[in-house]
Amino acid sequence: MARYIFVTGGVVSSLGKGLSSASLAYLLQSRGYKVRIRKLDPYLNVDPGTMSPFQHGEVFVTDDGAETDLDLGHYERFSGISAKKSDNITTGKIYSDVLKRERQGNYLGKTVQVIPHITNRIKEFIKNDLAKEDFVICEIGGTVGDIESLPFLEAIRQFSNEAGRKNTLFIHLTLVPYMKASDEIKTKPTQHSVKELRSIGIQPDIIICRSERSIPLDQRKKISLFCNVAIDDVIETVDVKTIYEAPISFNKEKLDERVLKYFKIKSKKKVNLLPWKKITQLVLNTKNKVNIAIIGKYVELKDAYKSLDEALTHGGIANNLKVNLIRIESDFLKPNEIKNRLKGVSGILIPGGFGKRGTEGKIAAVNYARKNKIPFFGICFGMQMAVIEFARNKLNIKNATSSEFGPSKASVVGLMSEWTKNGKLMKGTDKDLGGTMRLGSYEARLKKDTKISKIYNSLKIQERHRHRYEVNINYKEDFENKGMIFSGLSPDNKLPEIVELKDHPWFIGVQFHPEFKSRPLIPHPLFSSFIKAAKSIRKNEKS
Ligand code: GLN
Repeated sequence: MARYIFVTGGVVSSLGKGLSSASLAYLLQSRGYKVRIRKLDPYLNVDPGTMSPFQHGEVFVTDDGAETDLDLGHYERFSGISAKKSDNITTGKIYSDVLKRERQGNYLGKTVQVIPHITNRIKEFIKNDLAKEDFVICEIGGTVGDIESLPFLEAIRQFSNEAGRKNTLFIHLTLVPYMKASDEIKTKPTQHSVKELRSIGIQPDIIICRSERSIPLDQRKKISLFCNVAIDDVIETVDVKTIYEAPISFNKEKLDERVLKYFKIKSKKKVNLLPWKKITQLVLNTKNKVNIAIIGKYVELKDAYKSLDEALTHGGIANNLKVNLIRIESDFLKPNEIKNRLKGVSGILIPGGFGKRGTEGKIAAVNYARKNKIPFFGICFGMQMAVIEFARNKLNIKNATSSEFGPSKASVVGLMSEWTKNGKLMKGTDKDLGGTMRLGSYEARLKKDTKISKIYNSLKIQERHRHRYEVNINYKEDFENKGMIFSGLSPDNKLPEIVELKDHPWFIGVQFHPEFKSRPLIPHPLFSSFIKAAKSIRKNEKS
């Protein structure tokens, strides 16, 4: 039977529960165990797919086409395990499921209630779709004390009672602030947060204390005493310089050791921290840098392009370079300022996006990259912008646009009504917005002797998608005659997946999101190649 580890958070949000869970997953895996990580989100949205990146950061997409919380990206990058639809549940999903069953009469006329119906469904989700994992780590979103998270906390309390305390472990992550004025580390918020948790019936077994500074023994003793945990189970996590240091630091603090001890099991293998040590060294010591501009609508919020930022860093790691991201808000990018704003950059990237706002700035940036032979990478919406720019300026379709921005006679990018997946016909819609895009992993066939086939070193690839619009295949010949090659297509040859310019050192647009599959230990070839191209035109930038 699987052992369950529940990770809750207290005092404040954004303490790094996701990173802690992902690091623990890596450590347990490295010790020879099979691990699965899940996220339980207390908000009412069915999934984050329809939420603004300003609200919720990036929407992460899994191979099987789920739009999930960005923490699943951390999990994948650290553990190397591809997440699935069944790994992210929300209150919205649970409620819509229970209400559907109620309408179908499945509750046989009973009064449907939070306890037991909602909590039972949560428990079913926790156990659902497992494949003989030794450990299932479940992170509960939000902070203890939130009204919304109560059903989840109640469900995990019941779960532990049913599965047995020896098969479940509660980890609580809290903030231990440092007060500058009195030069003191304060444990009171942790005490209160644990008190709150205990009032719901959950006694944490391990407390991870996030702190700016190392926590002195006296304060650890205090936490141990007031929170009723062994002193060795009070684990500190002092801010790390790079996230890649997190598995090293948790191992040093013996988190994985304490977890195994709790479950009374031994390590099957010696932990391998070498890959993380190498990456940390590289990231911290590399002096040379390359300036890459990201032009998007959500650049103000760092988490909005989380996987992308990570993938670019991985591309830097592959080239022994620090990637300096210059975030440019597309709304304020006036076409006549482009030259000035992009003067010092060695690569231009336009990421995924939705809606018309800010598109003219993006199109002008594509034009600048194309004409000045600056490495250009267009991802999803970015590829669509590249195609529109090319249609306007090289094919002379002056009003070329996307039907996403309204009806037009010159939509070189149009709404997809249907497409095939593994021989099955799929249909799109623009009415119900949630979960109706072309989502998840799809195959693309690459044209021989193109830049893209050399980068992947393959003629068949699988990448993750999340979009509703598509470049119109009927323009293929016109584009190719002018030098923009459709170098990757869907297996039925109907959907353009990749475009590239013949006479440009590195100008590639992809309809998918390669950033979701890049991992620090295995950088994605497209990002390594893009950074390599940027490196070659770099003007000796030092950090
Ligand atoms: N808005 C575009 C579409 O739906 C692009 C989406 C994206 O970049 N993820 O096709």
